[in-house]
Amino acid sequence: MVLKRRIVLFIILSLCSIAFAQDGLGGIGDPYFPDFGNNGYDVQHYTIALNVNMEEQTLNGTAMIESLATQDLSVFHLDFLGMSIKQITVNNAAATFERDGRELIITPETPLLENQPFTVHVVYNGSPGKGVSSSNLPFGRGWTWISDGVYVASEPGGSAVWYPVNDHPLDKATYTLQITVPQDYTVAANGLLQDVISESDGRQTYLWEAENPIASYLVTVNIGRFAMLETVYGDGLPLRFFVPERFADELPALADVTKEMLAFFESVFGVYPLEAYGIVVVDATLDFALETQTLSLFGRDLLAGDQWLGIGGADIVMAHELAHQWFGNSVSPASWRDIWLNEGFATFAQMLWLEYTQGTAEMNAIYDSWYDNISYLSASRNTPLADPGDDNLFSINVYLRGALVLEALRQELGDELLFAILQAFHETYRNGNASIEDFIATAEAVSGQSLTDFFTQWLYERDLPLSPLSD
Ligand SMILES: [Zn+2]
Repeated sequence: MVLKRRIVLFIILSLCSIAFAQDGLGGIGDPYFPDFGNNGYDVQHYTIALNVNMEEQTLNGTAMIESLATQDLSVFHLDFLGMSIKQITVNNAAATFERDGRELIITPETPLLENQPFTVHVVYNGSPGKGVSSSNLPFGRGWTWISDGVYVASEPGGSAVWYPVNDHPLDKATYTLQITVPQDYTVAANGLLQDVISESDGRQTYLWEAENPIASYLVTVNIGRFAMLETVYGDGLPLRFFVPERFADELPALADVTKEMLAFFESVFGVYPLEAYGIVVVDATLDFALETQTLSLFGRDLLAGDQWLGIGGADIVMAHELAHQWFGNSVSPASWRDIWLNEGFATFAQMLWLEYTQGTAEMNAIYDSWYDNISYLSASRNTPLADPGDDNLFSINVYLRGALVLEALRQELGDELLFAILQAFHETYRNGNASIEDFIATAEAVSGQSLTDFFTQWLYERDLPLSPLSD
């Protein structure tokens, strides 16, 4: 994610702490968001079918969740906030349920056995996000209605407002999204568009399939009056771009620069790891962009030539979100405390792109100004990168100092070794999760040297080490 204006980076959040449910299954153990995700099972695949009423801003939904029990379960939890539940079945037998904040607590008719697959069906309706306190949703609102459409941006915990989910990056799964809308709207979502089915009432169902596992906060559904361009990159990687119809002329330029970026980042990070890529520009001005998997999400301001973070044009933030497909998406953080692995890496990548397109002197000048900026951060914002705190996930320090760490490591080890470390880290943890400690271990193994002092100073302590550019 990139937040657009610096002032937004200083948003101070207060989070309600929600009591743990008594059975201990609610909450996957995240140090920052103890009620996110759940224990006792491992979701394999979600099939989410939504019939969307654009005028009333409501939907009828069914979620089919195919899962594997990792322990015997007489009761289990999903995360689900708001909306009304009409029915829940587990393995086709009616189940009883209760709700407690984020926790949807389900008691199947027959207890589930360890290592056995099970299928949950939830039938629900309502208006996603309606009546849900923002204190339950740091940053991401999840499903968001705009004047003539919908976008979905959920980092870190907004998915639970629109479908029942094990809402934590530790439980990645594949997805089928079947979204039914009026004929004059288009649906842009994760993965590949397999079919558009005409319904008897004149509506259309868009069938999207995502074959690589996705962390729930990266699942997206965007509904709008879009113009679309489809093309391929390299040996046939599908690319698709969606913009509001009146911006259709911008599509070829978006595709061209994205192909250039893919070629550049593949030369640095290795082969693009997912089944597709592209961009959706929704018809709203957003104060952020998000690396929703295989289809990064932007507001229409992307097309207006705005300056992002005062460092350049739209291509810089496009580079940031594309780089996340390797770092953040293919390799997901093991917990939200590991946010540096997302934002530090994507910000470093945007600077590599800037260096590639504008030169090293320009990159160094920006790093110098960033170093000065973060030198003056207040103590509450200058938290260690390895433990920034739940209200600093998207703070300026995580991005700017986060990128400087990798630039400093580059200065120390040289391009060849640094890029070998990044490639090895991605290869080792792709389609899975990694912690900051996993990255450090990879860096030491690939470089063959102890980097304890380096990482202690840059990641675990508050004091800012000397600038990597100060010689
Ligand atoms: Zn980001």
